[in-house]
Formats: sequence, structure tokens, C-alpha cells
Amino acid sequence: MEFYVDSIMGDKIGRSTVFGLPLQQQWSYRVTGENAPTYYLDTDAPLYYYSFCDAWVAIQYKSLPKEKQERLDPMIIGFNVTDMYAADHIKRVLKTFPGVFSGIGEFSIHKEFVSSKISGDVASLTDPALDRIFEFAAEVGLPVLIHNDIDNPFPKPGKPNYITGFQELIKRHPNTIVIWAHLGLGRIIKPIEDMGTLFENMLADPAYKNLYFDLSWDETAKWLDYNDKSLERTAAIIKKYPDRFLFGTDNIAPDKTEKQLRVYHLYDRLWKLVGEEVTSKVSKGNYERLFNEARIKVRAWEKENVK
Ligand SMILES: [Zn+2]
Repeated sequence: MEFYVDSIMGDKIGRSTVFGLPLQQQWSYRVTGENAPTYYLDTDAPLYYYSFCDAWVAIQYKSLPKEKQERLDPMIIGFNVTDMYAADHIKRVLKTFPGVFSGIGEFSIHKEFVSSKISGDVASLTDPALDRIFEFAAEVGLPVLIHNDIDNPFPKPGKPNYITGFQELIKRHPNTIVIWAHLGLGRIIKPIEDMGTLFENMLADPAYKNLYFDLSWDETAKWLDYNDKSLERTAAIIKKYPDRFLFGTDNIAPDKTEKQLRVYHLYDRLWKLVGEEVTSKVSKGNYERLFNEARIKVRAWEKENVK
């Protein structure tokens, strides 16, 4: 983690979330023998929730000097989103490592190629276990970073599977700060017809005032900068609601600053269209506002609840 702050963030990146990868793929000798998977698409073996990642992140974070800790926001992620006990895991992590975490996520409900490989129940937007997570997040003041694709990889046009359920979830939890990772897009999850109108309607509707939109991932950049029309539409919406969008990289364990900056530069055409002030809000200001607020609330909750 110190390498990440010193050598990847350096003097180019101000603040960053950090979290483990909650889904571990089983190395099943019966399936691939000596070929150990290092990526979830490597084999057909199932994925499972690996809770230890939260402790690992907390211990790494605690070993950093204060000025480096200040630049990071560790997130709790090692829970099974279909388990009614998930909220209890989050509470246990806060109590075991007070002073560390600022939010929860990024966890997935519907994610292309991933959701169906996880052992046990398929995650669902209507699961009471998810409601318990959202309720507890609101109680503590933890922002929720959620990955939820708008649809499955090979959709029937006009009937996206996972938008309505997502909207209902947000509306059920008006006091939970939610960040929608990658705008619900993916490697092959492309924008639905007139997605701009869908987002504009949600941004204008007070029922979603707790919802923020995350632009991270090179795959998201690919769709938003698909052509001049999509880019101009994206820029117009962001300019209209500059406080509701956040930029991130979604990189996994980057080993060079250039890799981290690459995703930022994929949006260079967008930054140019929205201008300097909006760029600064989306790439820094909105994050600082949300996570500074979260830190204050979570520390206050810990003070009350951790003996
Ligand atoms: Zn994601």
C-alpha cells in the first residue's frame, strides 16, 4: 500500500479509495490441474467471497504514516451480498479496525461473466440482505460503491433486466449515499437506446438525490467516447449536473503511474468539452466532499459504538 501511495499516486494523484478483491476464484485441481487461475475468466471454477481482504487492507493501512493514510479511503468489501449477516460483517470490521474505513464496496450485484460464477445464491437487487447492508450504511454514514450492470451481455432490446430494480433499491434507501460504478456499463454491456435521457431523468428526480455516477474503468470510457454524438451528450449531462459525477480508474494493482493516468487520459476529449472547473469537480472535488463527510460520520459512529 505504501508503494501505491509513493510510486503510483506520487504527486499526480491526490486521493484514492483502496479495497481488496472480494471474489476469489477457487483453484480446483480437478478442473485445471497445475494451471492456477489468476483471473476470474481463466477457468470454469467458482468464485467465493474472501473476507480476509478487509483485514489485510486494514493492517496495511495502519502500517502507513499519518500523512499517507490521509490520502486513502479504505473500503469494506469482504461480505456475501446475499447473506443477511453481511451487515454484521461490516459492523464487525468497523469495530475491529476503528479509524480505518470510509465506505463499503465496490461490490457487485449484477456483473457480466462474474455473477453467475459465484457459489451459492445469485445476487439480487430485491434481496433483504442488500437492504440490511444499505440500512446499516446509512446508519454509519458509509458511502456504498455498487457495481450493477444495466442488463445481461446479450440483451433483448428495450427490456433491460436490472435498471428498474436498481432504481427501486435507491428509492428505498434515501439516506444511503450510493455511487453507481461505471454507470452500469461493462466490457460488452453497452448503453441502452437513449441512455442519456434515462440518466437525465434520474438526475432531475429528487428521489435519486442520494445517487452519484462513477465514470471509472477504461471500458466505460470506451462507451462514452464511442463517437462524437455520445461524447457530446455525456458532456452536456455532466455540465448540467457537475456535482453528481466522479472519476476513478478501476485499475487492479497498477504497477506504474502511467497505467493509472491512462484511464484519466482516455477522457481527455470529455475534459476538454466540460471545461476546467467541471473537470476539477468530477476528478477531485466531488470525491473529497463525499469522503470527507463520510470520514467524519464514520469516526463519530465508531466513537459511539466501539468500546
Ligand atoms: Zn466494477
